[in-house]
Amino acid sequence: MSDILNKYKWMGPIIDKMDRDIKRKFMKNFRMRDKNFFPEGDYKADIKNLVNCMLCPNMCRFDCGTLQAELKETMSPAYKSRIGYYLTIGKIDASKEENKAFIDLMYKCSNEESCKVWCPFEFSVVSLLETVRDDLNTKGLMPDYCKNQIEKLKKTNTIEDHNIFLTYKDKGIENIETDGNDEVYYYIGCESMKFPEVVKANIEILKKAGIKFSTNLEKKTCCGGPAFNIRDLETAKEFANKNKELIRSTGAKIIVSDCPGCIETLNTRYRKAGIEIDGRFIHIVRYIKELIEDGKLQLQREVPDEYKKATIHDPCLLARNLNDIESIRAILNKLSSIDIVEPIYNKNFTHCCGWSGTVHWADKNIAIKEASNRIDELKETGAKVFISACPECELGLAYGVKEIDKEKIKIIDIAELLIKVI
Ligand code: SF4
Ligand code: SF4
Repeated sequence: MSDILNKYKWMGPIIDKMDRDIKRKFMKNFRMRDKNFFPEGDYKADIKNLVNCMLCPNMCRFDCGTLQAELKETMSPAYKSRIGYYLTIGKIDASKEENKAFIDLMYKCSNEESCKVWCPFEFSVVSLLETVRDDLNTKGLMPDYCKNQIEKLKKTNTIEDHNIFLTYKDKGIENIETDGNDEVYYYIGCESMKFPEVVKANIEILKKAGIKFSTNLEKKTCCGGPAFNIRDLETAKEFANKNKELIRSTGAKIIVSDCPGCIETLNTRYRKAGIEIDGRFIHIVRYIKELIEDGKLQLQREVPDEYKKATIHDPCLLARNLNDIESIRAILNKLSSIDIVEPIYNKNFTHCCGWSGTVHWADKNIAIKEASNRIDELKETGAKVFISACPECELGLAYGVKEIDKEKIKIIDIAELLIKVI
């Protein structure tokens, strides 16, 4: 109570000057302010915070990846919240074909949560929009590009139209099936399978460190992350349960992945969905850092000349969700003769590659522009080698490289560099 009195104390002198009738009406409106502002209804959407965000003068807009890609106010965070609010309460009729663009806007978010970095209320606009998606799904208004992703997940257990894990033989990736007594489960992401050299490097690194681990590619499925983004929580939970069983069968107490999104999903998102899996879930870059510190891996060779000047692209999920900006730098600092030039937007302030979240399905051109904005920032460092630790980033960033730069710029995973020096 004292907090409220304190917050509104500036009103005191104004109220004192009111006559009795006005004061009575004013006090009634004041008491009803929540009810009037935040209409009650059977909504899953976080109406209160959508309204709070939509009334903000877009204080985070300068750093919103999709807005900076589109350069249109209609892509701004507060505008997205406003449209989300109108869709939820029916001011915009979501069922009408002519309003489809408003529904699409609810998916034109790249999940990087730069908004949350700057928001005084710590709102993540994408989290607010996810609650709007919940209501759209309930009304049967999930967009086709999301339905397609769910169909692929159900049909192939992966994000592709074929089971991408079963391509391991063609790609020369060794599969190690569990005997139930693993120290570590190397959990390979769907997107990681598009980068066989990264997967092979990680397998080689774990072997060199003498770790007993498995990959289980014959039984492997997606973590279900895309279903969480789309908010098909039933499908997401099916994947959570499949993964819980697979992880349990390995006996591993440490689960490492080359994909920050997988770790975030296996750990935090599953827990929020009520599914807990025992174990320590960490990105492989952190695990490798620990292996080096424990003396299980030696960095004994020189960094090859073509990698001697490099910059770091911090994956937003690794930096901001898994809170790890340190591991990649700790490893690179131990390498002799490499010059790391930091980009202006780095560490917790990193910018998105465009391929996080749902925007690359809703509007691929926005995602590509976001990727090319990020490539420009990385190029400003003068380095030609961009080191990251996320297959999604490595995929997205590649879309942003202009034709003229394709021969000059190398986008690599840290594992690809490490395999050359251990
Ligand atoms: S996320 Fe925060 S800073 Fe950004 S528009 Fe919404 S309320 Fe304002
Ligand atoms: S999550 Fe990213 S794209 Fe979405 S509103 Fe926030 S800053 Fe913009």
